[in-house]
Amino acid sequence: MNADEFGMNLERVRSVIGSAAVKAGRDPLTVKLVPASKKVSPEVLRIAYDSGLRVFGENRVQEARDKQPLLPANIEWQFIGGLQKNKAKEAVRLFSLIHSVDSVELAQEIDRRAREAGKVQQVLIEVNVGGESSKHGAAPEQVSPLAGAIFACNNLELKGFMTVAPFFEELEKVRPFFRKLREIRDELEQRSGAKFPELSMGMSHDYQIAIEEGATIVRVGTALFGARQYPEKTT
Ligand SMILES: *Cc1c(COP(=O)(O)O)cnc(C)c1O
Repeated sequence: MNADEFGMNLERVRSVIGSAAVKAGRDPLTVKLVPASKKVSPEVLRIAYDSGLRVFGENRVQEARDKQPLLPANIEWQFIGGLQKNKAKEAVRLFSLIHSVDSVELAQEIDRRAREAGKVQQVLIEVNVGGESSKHGAAPEQVSPLAGAIFACNNLELKGFMTVAPFFEELEKVRPFFRKLREIRDELEQRSGAKFPELSMGMSHDYQIAIEEGATIVRVGTALFGARQYPEKTT
């Protein structure tokens, strides 16, 4: 991947974001691109940085810890993968936003580690909208109690919701899953009176649909960086 190739990919992704937003009657600036940088080398991330990107989304705590020192300090790192409780302390140190809180136990551990670090950690609740056993995320009916537990944590700030939707060849089939995440958010806003502005949904093959359904964060890997070298373990 050289700078020209990356530049073309980035231009293409930005144009899809722009047209999907316009189609949905939204300002394209309300959609944040978080490049999914798992298994992408520091050299290629440097190319992305030089193209103006300042946010990356990593899946593994260890990989982010290794890469961060090799790249400029003014990059914002977000965590998009499944988080184990025993990595919570490192995650609080490394990431501005954790997308993948899916249990009360994990929330409380992140809260405890954030308190120790003197930080208010921004988080999203990951929801398994498709009910797939292979996916992380809280079941839709667990979202309300989990949000309640997060409210009770002084060192957590709930910014919104995230999902990894099921994969469909036929793109339109994914739309109800993104819509469902938005409805879960809207309902919780109504009942709590609080605001949860962020909807992190949409990946390389489906982000235009996610944007039409209200995504404020799209996590795009392959469409920017090309196919990853070896299979991703998603469970
Ligand atoms: C890898 C990954 C992405 C990006 O996937 P692509 O299909 O390569 O765009 C987005 N979100 C999560 C949680 C991921 O693990």
